[in-house]
Amino acid sequence: MSRSLSRPEGFQLSPAPEIVVNLYNKKNTFAARVVDKYRISHASSPNHCWHVILDITDSEMAGKYRIGQSLGVFPDGRFNNHEFNYVHQSLTNQVRLYSIASAYWGDDWHGNTVSLCVKRELGEDAETGKLVMGSTSNFICDVQPGDLINVTGPVGKSFLLPENPLDYHYVLVATGTGIAPYRGMIIELFNQGFEGEIWLIFGVPYSTDIMYDDAFTYFAEKYPNFHYHTAISRENRNAKGERFYVQDALEENQEKLVPLLEKPNCLMYLCGLKGMEYGVYPWLYRIKSNLVSLPEDMTFDQVDKLPRDAREWIRIERSRDKTRLLKETY
Ligand SMILES: Cc1cc2nc3c(=O)[nH]c(=O)nc-3n(C[C@H](O)[C@H](O)[C@H](O)COP(=O)(O)OP(=O)(O)OC[C@H]3O[C@@H](n4cnc5c(N)ncnc54)[C@H](O)[C@@H]3O)c2cc1C
Repeated sequence: MSRSLSRPEGFQLSPAPEIVVNLYNKKNTFAARVVDKYRISHASSPNHCWHVILDITDSEMAGKYRIGQSLGVFPDGRFNNHEFNYVHQSLTNQVRLYSIASAYWGDDWHGNTVSLCVKRELGEDAETGKLVMGSTSNFICDVQPGDLINVTGPVGKSFLLPENPLDYHYVLVATGTGIAPYRGMIIELFNQGFEGEIWLIFGVPYSTDIMYDDAFTYFAEKYPNFHYHTAISRENRNAKGERFYVQDALEENQEKLVPLLEKPNCLMYLCGLKGMEYGVYPWLYRIKSNLVSLPEDMTFDQVDKLPRDAREWIRIERSRDKTRLLKETY
């Protein structure tokens, strides 16, 4: 495992590539061969997540993607409109995005692979009660080494590490598969000699859902400047006796996090389930951070009680400092 985490002795890293996007699109996909895949959630977890490594050696993308970008995956039709044992596959001919989970040098150190972290999406047909499997996520989780996956991208310019990434500190907050880009970011930073502070706050429902725990534990044991905390919502309780979310883990570590977040060279990243910001922004108000502003006509209590579909969130979102508080939720 540590083979893909720590640079082989004497190995010289190439500099980060220029940012490029959309080298491949829906009309011009690249057929990437699956090199390897392994389960990253616990076998007993109902949230089945896999790390999938793709070979991109013969593509324009080799050595050219940046961590924080995503790849598009286009299921090839094999699984579409498929029904067996009363299980339906949902229909899509749309590209689905998956965050890149490997450093820009891939899990092979030469930029010839790119890795994804994918959770099987399952749903139930409201009328028939039949199980419906999300088409692309299940397609990816079902592939075997040697299979081909049609990919597009890379996509995205707004969730990247900054230029001169070693000059910053990072507070990385993830829920679920939002952990994917942080795996690559943490591998990149520590292998480049990072000496600042990184806090990783990772929220999942159950401890069996924690992904890449061995990798993050490895870095936490090796680097005292890496602080790894989990928020297991359905197993832990906050001070009020309620479910323990990422904002509760932020609050628990507030004494250290507040002075860090006050530094102009500290960046905060949020990645994962849409709606996680509704828990994190009130915490930012509480600590009087200027990463996001409280609307002038609202009190903190009003924001704290805002329903998730309230229009005010649009105004609040507009006030986010997009240079220091980066967000990718889906
Ligand atoms: C920027 C970005 C990055 C992302 N990164 C990741 C990542 O790193 N890892 C990851 O796993 N995901 C990621 N996603 C989410 C991903 O793109 C897909 O949305 C997700 O995998 C579901 O796609 P799908 O094709 O499997 O499901 P879909 O076919 O789109 O179905 C979505 C859901 O609806 C249910 N459904 C479909 N049809 C029906 C029906 N008729 N009745 C009832 N239920 C139904 C399905 O079971 C499923 O739960 C990311 C999204 C974005 C925007």
